[in-house]
Amino acid sequence: AWARVKRRLRAELGEDVFASWFARLELEAVSGGTARLTVPTRFLKSWIESHYLDRVLGTFKAEVEEIARIEVGVRGSGAPVRTVATGAPKAGPASGPLARLHAAGTPVPVAAVAPELRPATEAGGDLSGTPLDARLTFASFVIGRSNALAHAAAERVAAHQGEGALYNPLYLHAGVGLGKTHLLHGIGHAAREAGRRVIYLTADRFMYGFVNALKTQSALAYKERLRGIDLLILDDVQFIQGKSIQAEFGHTINALIDAGRQVVVASDRPPTELEALDERVRSRLGGGLVVEITSLDEALRVSILSARLAAVRASHPGFDVSPQVASYVARAITANGRDLEGAVNRLLAHATLTGTAVTMETAEAAIRDLVKNREPKRIKIEDIQKLVASRYNVSRSDILSERRTAAVVKPRQIAMYLSKVLTLRSLPEIGRRFGGRDHTTVLHAVRKIEKQIGEDSVLGDEVELLKRMLQD
Ligand code: ADP
Ligand code: MG
Repeated sequence: AWARVKRRLRAELGEDVFASWFARLELEAVSGGTARLTVPTRFLKSWIESHYLDRVLGTFKAEVEEIARIEVGVRGSGAPVRTVATGAPKAGPASGPLARLHAAGTPVPVAAVAPELRPATEAGGDLSGTPLDARLTFASFVIGRSNALAHAAAERVAAHQGEGALYNPLYLHAGVGLGKTHLLHGIGHAAREAGRRVIYLTADRFMYGFVNALKTQSALAYKERLRGIDLLILDDVQFIQGKSIQAEFGHTINALIDAGRQVVVASDRPPTELEALDERVRSRLGGGLVVEITSLDEALRVSILSARLAAVRASHPGFDVSPQVASYVARAITANGRDLEGAVNRLLAHATLTGTAVTMETAEAAIRDLVKNREPKRIKIEDIQKLVASRYNVSRSDILSERRTAAVVKPRQIAMYLSKVLTLRSLPEIGRRFGGRDHTTVLHAVRKIEKQIGEDSVLGDEVELLKRMLQD
């Protein structure tokens, strides 16, 4: 029924609106007439609640009569929420007034995109899209091997004065919790302190602005405002979806870069893998400096953790964590900075609630769920290659070789596909690990297997089985 509800919403609201607000809406539970839905951000939650709650309820009711109430929650806040994985929907034919303008060949002003971009004077002194978090500064950012380059580039961009832009755009990418947002806020703070006019926007905010601009038609005034900006920072661009929205996104980036304004972007993937975006937009995004932040090594985790502990201790003088416990935590929590922060909060809660010092044992209990549940098993590409090779009676070196016989090509493609879906590695990285192949070869393999799985249920089951074997 949920799939039908979503289909109805898509049909009723149109592709752009659906892609912007509902593509990542998931059903968590239905109980006692209440359907509990979840979205990944607080912003999406409040937007859906204030604009679409009745509509969603009506649509739901039409499918499941008993539903009397809709609740929207944020995934990943509080208790873990099981999410139903859905692929990002492919944007269908664009609709809406803007798309019609495009179709008619009328250029749409860049300005129509984000009306909440107000000059400082209008918005009470703060020229803001999404506000900056005061804690996320360069000063509180710990530098290590995995993020040194990204940090250096961020600092240079923030400090740059004078004509033109440095690396334009600066594009940072990394998995979740590795410090992208922290660096972007750091850039924002530093550039503002230097007197530059900065706007920081998340993809959600950007789309919100776009949809609003359609209503308010404040295009010209907006264009004026945009000219006054020195630095545009866009976070989580992988979420930008919808044909006309992504076109406007492209226009905005182009206009700013062409005018010599600095653009900084962060994403969970490299520009080449932003599949929801048009090829030209992708190549523009990749045309400046692209830097990846790789997973935190142990030394960096220890430093981030001690910095965090020191910060907390400043406000909770009694809170003490021995070096042994700190090193245990840094070794146990390997996933990302967010979980390290979560661990510190738990240790603190434990110490404050029980009034006892944190011991090795209490620490272990306090962070157990972070270690066990939150961290998915890290699957190595090498293990995938070995397993697939043995299932198909070929050798791992066959898989890495140049051989093109069907007996080798198919397991090779399956192994590439599994590497893409089970590891956080990028396509170029996977290509390198498969005997130095090009990322387009990997992409081709991934798409091909995806398609075949859809058509051939035997292959589908086989791949599913391989996945389980790797995940156990
Ligand atoms: P992302 O945007 O990449 O998902 P965030 O920037 O939100 O990650 O980082 C998650 C948490 O980890 C934040 O609280 C952030 O301050 C912290 N963090 C990540 N990397 C670092 C670092 N190098 N130094 C200090 N804190 C970090
Ligand atoms: Mg982020």
